[in-house]
Amino acid sequence: MRYKFVIVGAGVYGCALAFYLARRGEQVVVLESAEVASGASGGLGKRGVRANRRAAAELPLMRLAYPLWERLADDLGADIGYERTGGLNLVEQEVTGTTGGLASLRARAWHQRELGIPTEVLDRDQVREYEPGAAETVHGALWCPLDGMADHTATTRAFATAAMAAGAVFEEHTEVAQLIRDGARVSAVETADGRRFEAGEAVVLLNNTGVADLAATLDVQLPLWWLIPQAMTVKTANPICGHLLGHDHRALSMKPLDGSVMISGGWRGRWNPETRRGEPVQQNVERNLAEARTVFPALGDAIVEQVDTRSAETCSVDALPIVDVLPTVSNVLIGAGWSGHGFAIAPAVATLIADWLTGPTQPDTLLPLRYQRFRSPGLPVSRSHDVPR
Ligand SMILES: Cc1cc2nc3c(=O)[nH]c(=O)nc-3n(C[C@H](O)[C@H](O)[C@H](O)COP(=O)(O)OP(=O)(O)OC[C@H]3O[C@@H](n4cnc5c(N)ncnc54)[C@H](O)[C@@H]3O)c2cc1C
Repeated sequence: MRYKFVIVGAGVYGCALAFYLARRGEQVVVLESAEVASGASGGLGKRGVRANRRAAAELPLMRLAYPLWERLADDLGADIGYERTGGLNLVEQEVTGTTGGLASLRARAWHQRELGIPTEVLDRDQVREYEPGAAETVHGALWCPLDGMADHTATTRAFATAAMAAGAVFEEHTEVAQLIRDGARVSAVETADGRRFEAGEAVVLLNNTGVADLAATLDVQLPLWWLIPQAMTVKTANPICGHLLGHDHRALSMKPLDGSVMISGGWRGRWNPETRRGEPVQQNVERNLAEARTVFPALGDAIVEQVDTRSAETCSVDALPIVDVLPTVSNVLIGAGWSGHGFAIAPAVATLIADWLTGPTQPDTLLPLRYQRFRSPGLPVSRSHDVPR
């Protein structure tokens, strides 16, 4: 079987790229070892569509993503649960290390606005107008009115359905086991069940935790690892918060859902090698809930409904993704290392990858995500086995 573009992985990235390519009339196959949205792009609740306090290199991508999100349900012809609630990053301390606190808010708001992200500084009274339930200890916030959230599972499935309607082929339960190299190109991929898919033009590795191992077979070491993020829902009689919330110094993020609140923010589950899935660590569930109660006392003795620690996510050494062509071959493009915040920028990044694959040059907005940023010019290239894994 021969396709112009072979995409590995049917998470939000693989499905979105398939949609943007197929809509341009390109011939695409997506190979997925399990099912659409069975990795980090699926699961409980909603994901934040957030620019607030995102790394500067990603803010131009969020500026591109905002209008795409606004019309995505119409473009895909599906309900994706997108809500532009606005987002607050809550601040309790005067100074947080060298990077945050009340002292940093004006500079941060100015910088975000300069990069095209509407942002305001709120004082303690204004915070209460937005979030009356915030604790007395919250003294200010950064407010991004265009931030919000969406149903990640529905979005990923909607991208896949719309891609198929535009002609893309999806092969689920099809694990890519090997990349077949032919000189300076990868000419095909081979699946675990022995099938071969030839790539007329490019192979795109968007299989999150599996990207580093496939890149290593082409002698490229990626500075990535993976972990198990934790998210949970807590049932509440009354609404606790009304916006997408992050926090300046606590590992805490919150999202209002229908009849519950979703709590996450950086706590971890653990990997179970037997089930090949993540599982909760009770102490981390309790600590995440305790952080939320400190900032929203009305959570009181609210009860945890569900905990999601099913999926793994890849992180990179500078917490920025790598979106680039691998240096040892001419036609393998990767996107990985989303570091826990890849969902919100997916429509923008997938559009830019589609532009790159069908156009003459690498889009400028992707340049900060180059692989070359990890290399010092002039130093010899280290082979993958030189770096401990
Ligand atoms: C609990 C949690 C909360 C998060 N919260 C947010 C948030 O609020 N905002 C935000 O922006 N981001 C958030 N993220 C991050 C975001 O969800 C991810 O960055 C994003 O979904 C990654 O998408 P992906 O397509 O790269 O990977 P995935 O969705 O993991 O898809 C990769 C796919 O590749 C498949 N695969 C792997 N190896 C192979 C192979 N060899 N052959 C074929 N297929 C293969 C897998 O089965 C999987 O389906 C969160 C992530 C988690 C887990």
